[in-house]
Amino acid sequence: MLVKKFLCAPGPTAVPAEILNEMAKPLIHHRTPQFDAIVAENAELLKQVFKTKNPVVTFTSSGTGAMEASVTNFLSKGDKAIVVSAGKFGERFAEICTAYGVEVVELKADYGKDVKPAAVAEALKANPDTKAVYTEYSETSTAVAFDVKGIADVVRKTGALMIVDAITAVGAMEFEMDAWGVDVAVAGSQKSFMIPPGLSFLSVSEKGLKAMEKSTLPKYYFDIAGEIKANGKSTTAWTPAVTIMIGLNYALKMMISEGIDNVVKRHFIVAEAIRVGVQAIGLKLFADVPNVRPSDAVTAVRVPEGVDGKKIPGLMQDKFGVTVAGGQGSMAGNIFRLGSLGYMDKTDVIVQLQAMELALKELGYKFEAGKSVAAGQKYLMDNMKF
Ligand SMILES: *Cc1c(COP(=O)(O)O)cnc(C)c1O
Repeated sequence: MLVKKFLCAPGPTAVPAEILNEMAKPLIHHRTPQFDAIVAENAELLKQVFKTKNPVVTFTSSGTGAMEASVTNFLSKGDKAIVVSAGKFGERFAEICTAYGVEVVELKADYGKDVKPAAVAEALKANPDTKAVYTEYSETSTAVAFDVKGIADVVRKTGALMIVDAITAVGAMEFEMDAWGVDVAVAGSQKSFMIPPGLSFLSVSEKGLKAMEKSTLPKYYFDIAGEIKANGKSTTAWTPAVTIMIGLNYALKMMISEGIDNVVKRHFIVAEAIRVGVQAIGLKLFADVPNVRPSDAVTAVRVPEGVDGKKIPGLMQDKFGVTVAGGQGSMAGNIFRLGSLGYMDKTDVIVQLQAMELALKELGYKFEAGKSVAAGQKYLMDNMKF
């Protein structure tokens, strides 16, 4: 039987057909006026998405490349960094810092929770020599959104840099790089940007640019200063992922013409409809709401008692056509994650809830058929303007 495919993961996300068509055109060379124009325009449009006047550089790498750059370009061996973490991606920041000989003060909370700004303030008081605070915004592994605005308010009053993994937050949730006082923010192409993996983005404030001059950690490919210099001449330091840069140009124009604030609103409505839907059949969110804010990029759902959770993503994908994510690390089998990131609209709410119901029924969970879909649909009707 035909199984129609839908990609609904929190990255890589679905790519619109118009963008696939753009990327299918014959390749152009990267040292040409044609491509220079794309580099220059992308840099300007990215600033609008990050809400910043400062540079946003593009690396040819997955998001982790920009995370690594946010360590190697701002710190020196033996520097102290506070790493806020309550999930797999926060842990990655600590691992990168440790790999480069940075002294890490880990400020941890259990998976499903967050770390409050007051705890960061306390840690900064206890460690006045801290050079940078690293935090997640949307912790994709647990589907929890951290209070980045609140944490930035604390950090901006100190000499430390505020460095944010906003990889599933930029272009999905409210984010004001300059107004909030964020010094470094990183993002990735395969998330809200609706294009394949292969590009990462990094924006840096003036305070960050000053700190960059003092940093002595080794860097070569991910040298932000070199990339900013090349961008000043409307080009890139190395051969970039030309095709994806072209896709990005189209995607950024789509995002800007929808309006960034509308893009953010759409993410909230789609995510909220999914949250309403899953809870309508007795399922529980993994995010410890109302003590934390759930992410609007992804919804982590607790696997109900008696159901083999490891089978849910595979069944949903292979038998029912809808690719969602399972749990990472120790969360494997305990949660599954529905997506609302990137090229996602009302239809994707129904598609995911429907496939989820089919999978759960097959795995023996008892519920009223169609109830999650109906609840999601009702939420959309009441809250989405058609
Ligand atoms: C996807 C993601 C990353 C980057 O992962 P890559 O596989 O390197 O692109 C980092 N942080 C978060 C929160 C993510 O969702």
